[in-house]
Amino acid sequence: MSDNGEVKVARTAGFCWGVKRAIDIAMNTAKNTDGPVYTHGPLIHNPQAIEMLEGKEIFALKDASTLEKGTVIIRTHGVTPEVRRGLKERGLTINDATCPLVAKVQGIIKKHAHKGYHTIIIGDAGHAEVTGLMGYADGRSHVIGAAEDVDALPPMDKVCVVAQTTCDIQKYGVIVDAIKLKYPEAVVAHTICDATEERQEEVLKLAREVDAMIVVGGRNSANTGRLAQIAGEAGAETFLVETEEELDPAAIVRFARVGITAGASTPAWMIERVKERVEHLRGRKRAGFGAKIKAAAELAVVSNISLAAGAALMTYANCTLTNTDFGWRAGAIPAMYLFSMYVLNQINDMQSYKNNEPEKMRFYLKRSGPMNMAALLSAAGGFALAASLGMQAGGVYVVAMILGLGYTVKWFPKWKVIRIHRLKDIPASKDVFVGLGWGAVTVLIPALGQQGEENPNLLAIAFIFTFTLVYIRSVLSDIRDINGDRLVGRETIPILIGNEGTKVFLALIVVGLATMLVSAAMSGLAGPFAYVLLLSIAYTALYLWFYHKRIISRGLRFDLTLDGVFYFTGALAIIWTAAA
Ligand code: SF4
Repeated sequence: MSDNGEVKVARTAGFCWGVKRAIDIAMNTAKNTDGPVYTHGPLIHNPQAIEMLEGKEIFALKDASTLEKGTVIIRTHGVTPEVRRGLKERGLTINDATCPLVAKVQGIIKKHAHKGYHTIIIGDAGHAEVTGLMGYADGRSHVIGAAEDVDALPPMDKVCVVAQTTCDIQKYGVIVDAIKLKYPEAVVAHTICDATEERQEEVLKLAREVDAMIVVGGRNSANTGRLAQIAGEAGAETFLVETEEELDPAAIVRFARVGITAGASTPAWMIERVKERVEHLRGRKRAGFGAKIKAAAELAVVSNISLAAGAALMTYANCTLTNTDFGWRAGAIPAMYLFSMYVLNQINDMQSYKNNEPEKMRFYLKRSGPMNMAALLSAAGGFALAASLGMQAGGVYVVAMILGLGYTVKWFPKWKVIRIHRLKDIPASKDVFVGLGWGAVTVLIPALGQQGEENPNLLAIAFIFTFTLVYIRSVLSDIRDINGDRLVGRETIPILIGNEGTKVFLALIVVGLATMLVSAAMSGLAGPFAYVLLLSIAYTALYLWFYHKRIISRGLRFDLTLDGVFYFTGALAIIWTAAA
C-alpha cells in the first residue's frame, strides 16, 4: 500500500496481469491488422478503457455472431466452445485473450464433465466468465451465488465445484461448506485467482484503517463491485466511482483518512486521476504553510520550471567534469531549451498526459496559450544565446530543436511493411531522443562555446553520463505510465520487454555507468570529480530501489525525487568547486 499523507492507495489497485495480457494482445492485433479489430463483448469491464481502445480501432461487439469477416479477440472472460466454433466456422481470425486462469477453470470443468460430473459454479449467473464456463459442462451445470442456493440444488451423485475467478473469498468458503454438507463427495477446485484474493484481502485491511474507501472501476465490473461490497461490510463509508468527475467534493472532505482501491480492469491512469482529485479537494480544504509549499512545488514540476533549473545545475556539473568555463549563458541555454521542448511536446501530446499525468493535462488545458507563448519565446531566446557562443554552438542548438520539435512530425510516408512515419513511431525511441537532447545542450554547447579548447574524451564521458542519467529517469517514468502508454499504443521499453525486464535493464545500466566513471578516473581520462559523480549514480540506484519497493510510485514525490538527481549532481559540483 502506498501512503500518500491521509490518502492511501492499495498496492493491488488496477490492472491484473490477465487484463494487461489481454490489452497487449489487442494492441498487437490492431497493429498488425489492416482494418478494424473486434472483441467478443467488451475486452475488459471498464468503459473508459473501452473508449480508448475504440480510438485504436478495437471495437467491442455485444456478440460477434453476425460478423462475417475480420479479426475477433476473445476477451479475458473466455467464451463457450459453441461460440468459439461459430467464429471459426465463419472464417474469422481469432486471437484468444482468455486469461490462462479462466482457461484452467474451463479445463477442470471439461475434464470432469467427460467423466459424468455435474458442475456447480459459485459466481454471478449471467456474468460473461460464468456463461463461458457453463459451456464446458456438457449441459450439467448449476450456478449459485449464496449458501442458501444449495438447498434448491437437485440430488447429484458426482459433483465438481469451481468458482468464478473473481468470487468473494469469504462468501466462497461459506458456500463450499454448505455444498460439502449436502454432497460430501464433491470434488472442490479452488479457482479464485491469486490477484483477486490479494486484492480482496488488501481492501479488507485498508477499509478497517480508513474512514472512507473509494473504489474505482466500471459499474459493470463484478470484481470492482465485490471490492466495494467488502469495503462497505468492513465498516468504511464506500464510494464506487468510474471517474474522478463522480467524486462528491462535499462528501470526500468530511473524512480524515481516505483509502483508494480499484478493480482488475481499472487503468492506473484512472486511479491516478481519482487520487489527484481527492488530494486536490483535500488540499483546497487545508490552507496552511505546508499546503502552500506543496502547491508551489507542484507548480514548479508541472510547468517544467523545476526541470529547467535542474538542467542548469546539470550543466554546471558537466562543465566541472569537462573543465569547461561555466558562464550564465551556459546555464541559461539548456534551461530554456529543455523548458520549451518539454512544454511544447506536452501540449502536443495531451492524450498521453490525459492518461498518465492528469493534473499536468489540466494545467496545460487551462493555460495552453500562455504556456505555448512562453515555450516559443524560450526556444528562440535559447537559440539567440547559443548563436552568441558561436556558429557551432548555434548549429548544435538547431539540430537539437529539430529533433525535439520534429519528434511528432510525420517525416516519412506510412509504408505497409514498416509502419514508421514519425520519429515517435520508432519503438522505445522517446527516451533515447530525450537523453540526446540533454547531452547536446548540457555538454556540447557549453564546450563548443569555448571555441577549440574542448577535450573530446572528457566530452564523451560527460555526454554518456548525462545521457544515461536522463535515459534512466525517462524509462522509469515509462514503467510508471505503462498502462496508459499501452492504451495509446506507445512502444516504450517496459512495453517491449516487460516491467521486471526493464528494472533489470536499468540496474545493468547503472552498473555500466559506474564502471565507466571509475575506469575514466583511474585511467586519467577524467579528473577526480568523476569519483564524486558516483554519488549521483548511487542516488539514481536509490530511487530505482525506492520505486521497486513502492516507496515512491507516482505524484509529486516521484517527480521531485527523479528531478532531484540533477539538483544533487549540480550541488556536488558546487561543493567540489568551493572546496577546491
Ligand atoms: Fe485473470 Fe485473475 Fe485477472 Fe481475472 S482477475 S483476468 S482470472 S488474473
